[in-house]
Amino acid sequence: MQEHVSGPEGKLSSALFKRGKVKDIYELDSEELLFVFTDRVSAYDIVLPSTIPRKGEVLCKLAAYWFNYLKAPHHMIRVEDANRMVVRRLKMIPVECVVRGYLYGSLYERLVKGEVNLPVKPVNAAMLPEPYFDPTTKSDVKDEPVTVDQVVDEGWLDKEEITALKDRSISIYKKMSERADKAGFILADLKLEFGFDDESNIVLADSIGPDEFRLWPKENYSPGKNQESYDKQLIRDWLSKVGYKKILDEARKAGQPTPRPPDLAKDLIEETSNRYVIAYQRLTGLKL
Ligand code: ADP
Repeated sequence: MQEHVSGPEGKLSSALFKRGKVKDIYELDSEELLFVFTDRVSAYDIVLPSTIPRKGEVLCKLAAYWFNYLKAPHHMIRVEDANRMVVRRLKMIPVECVVRGYLYGSLYERLVKGEVNLPVKPVNAAMLPEPYFDPTTKSDVKDEPVTVDQVVDEGWLDKEEITALKDRSISIYKKMSERADKAGFILADLKLEFGFDDESNIVLADSIGPDEFRLWPKENYSPGKNQESYDKQLIRDWLSKVGYKKILDEARKAGQPTPRPPDLAKDLIEETSNRYVIAYQRLTGLKL
């Protein structure tokens, strides 16, 4: 059965295009999509049973802030209500444009295993000498790293297009890093998605928020170990403390279904909500 969202007069109008972990996307017509940023929250790739008040609003307004701030061609048409964004429908490019300023997560693991060649010592969370373009395939299961040459060989894009994507992604990363730095954060890495409009122009799409980047508070940065992620750390720590993380790891190892996550504690929900609001206010210099 198709799900619908209320139109301007409250009548049921638009069909669900995709329900992500956090965003619900509706087709307004053949040219426009509606992004509804919900208060859902996920950790360890699982949507948790509790919601975080104001999170959807923060994600929507933060994405809108970046689209305006970056001044690169983007798909945003307008923001409606607190948490809805209307965007131009594009032909999406099947490559996730990841830019990394720090050796972390899967890039760190690949370097340790000798799968990539980088001019840095394998120290977890070390800063890279320059931003590294590290594209991946776009998959609902697991995004796999690809090289620029592979993208061309597979016929996904021609050399000129992938070079333009690389240059644009790195330039956006640099601009956002400077902004984050002024706000007291390190933008460790960033994932961008682009699409083609009807005239084959490359246009920045999807959203730009904590699900697309890693943001570390500068004052706690210390290479050689895992870093605190500003938005989800409290939740991850809490899930470990109450024993859920251990049960989840064991179930995953045994190939069993995901055990039901616990409802989050009230003060944890409040504190996490505050963190989203504070991150927004510090990054944008705006009040919510
Ligand atoms: P993801 O699949 O990236 O984790 P979601 O689950 O929130 O994200 O789904 C968003 C989907 O919408 C992605 O497949 C993304 O490529 C697609 N998308 C984003 N912006 C546009 C756009 N302007 N036109 C068409 N599709 C878009």
